[in-house]
Amino acid sequence: MKFYSTNNESLQISFSEAVLKGAADDGGLFMPAKIPQLENKFFDDLSNLNIKEIAFEIIKNFIDDIPKKYLIKIIDDAITFEAPIVQLNENLYVLELFHGPTLAFKDFGAQFLAKTISYLIQNQKKETIILVATSGDTGSAVASGFHNIERIKVGLLYPKNKVSKIQEQQLTTFDNNIFAFEVDGNFDDCQRLVKQAFSDNDLKNRFNLTSANSINIARLLPQTFYYFAAYAQLKRKNIPLIFSVPSGNFGNLTAGLISNEMGLPIYKFIAALNSNDVFLKYLRTGIFNPQPTIQTYSNAMDVGNPSNIVRIFSLYKNYEKLKEKISAFSFSDDETLLGIKEVYEKYNYIFDPHSAIGYLALKEFLNSFQNKNINGIILETAHPSKFKDIVERAINTNINLPERLKIFLQKEKKTIPISNDFRNFKEVLLNTF
Ligand SMILES: *Cc1c(COP(=O)(O)O)cnc(C)c1O
Repeated sequence: MKFYSTNNESLQISFSEAVLKGAADDGGLFMPAKIPQLENKFFDDLSNLNIKEIAFEIIKNFIDDIPKKYLIKIIDDAITFEAPIVQLNENLYVLELFHGPTLAFKDFGAQFLAKTISYLIQNQKKETIILVATSGDTGSAVASGFHNIERIKVGLLYPKNKVSKIQEQQLTTFDNNIFAFEVDGNFDDCQRLVKQAFSDNDLKNRFNLTSANSINIARLLPQTFYYFAAYAQLKRKNIPLIFSVPSGNFGNLTAGLISNEMGLPIYKFIAALNSNDVFLKYLRTGIFNPQPTIQTYSNAMDVGNPSNIVRIFSLYKNYEKLKEKISAFSFSDDETLLGIKEVYEKYNYIFDPHSAIGYLALKEFLNSFQNKNINGIILETAHPSKFKDIVERAINTNINLPERLKIFLQKEKKTIPISNDFRNFKEVLLNTF
């Protein structure tokens, strides 16, 4: 399978090249040249497969330049946790995507990307340095994937005082080959420093520099696994299947659309949004108009110019068709709190702020949907305890932290403070790595 750039469909490269490049030189994102069609037999057997088997049956159709036995090993090392569905009522389910090491769905993509890069660079002579700018969750998911892998070092750049306490503990307490740079600046400074490092000749001569950006194709493809895993667990498979996807950069939703194109019978997607609602405006008007980011309680969805939109446009060249497949709804912070409270009172289930928006969006969609017999699945993108303060305020009850989060909190924070000046960052990089 070749991969094309969304800016130029005739530029096609291999999976390995696309992974190591991250984004295309022309600024486009990589997409599979052809969406593979899964056979009926796969769907007949699906309910008997575990998540690793599902993952392999899917990914083998996309990747032809990594031998099968290594592909199995990558999946074995990366997908070490489940994606269970939990039933709220007759028609409503939650797909719990927080059972990975950093308690968010990003673990699926980040773990798979890390194990894939580790495989691809094994014959490199120089040491590999992975640089990631993070505003919260991405950094720890990526770090967890690369932790303790030989000949790879990871530099996480995060903005000082601008991530939550729990997020900071998750970023700064890995040891060994993971280094956290506390940048005196904002997230844009972190991104700029990473970009400058990639174009610096001294650093390029000394290290093999690679990114583990969220737009990497090896983070997108493994996000299809859990759409299939969710379907596999449903008892009634012949009624309309609707996924509600809390969306920021739209990677998750794009993976759902790809799953659908592969033959997974999904009737409808709902883009669940906070006040950053450019996609909702696009569905209404047909005009895509990026906007400055607005800060909300569901901060992983605070994106004013979603990067994966170009992938959605390349899958759906027709606006009318896209409008038929996806609906969008947006909710305020106050509504988010009420959503968390409502689910807790009605179903005794605790949602994080992002998933609460997923719930509200699905509910609103169903208000005007005739067929009441459906499988409605809300993607639960993070564990509620990652957003402890907001959730506790909403339900007026203390919530427990899971063991694997407590472990992060007990460890000692270790950071390398840097200014937002590139010369300072470069000097520190050369001295530290
Ligand atoms: C990243 C993230 C999202 C948004 O996912 P996209 O793929 O960027 O749309 C939603 N919820 C949580 C908890 C996240 O970490």
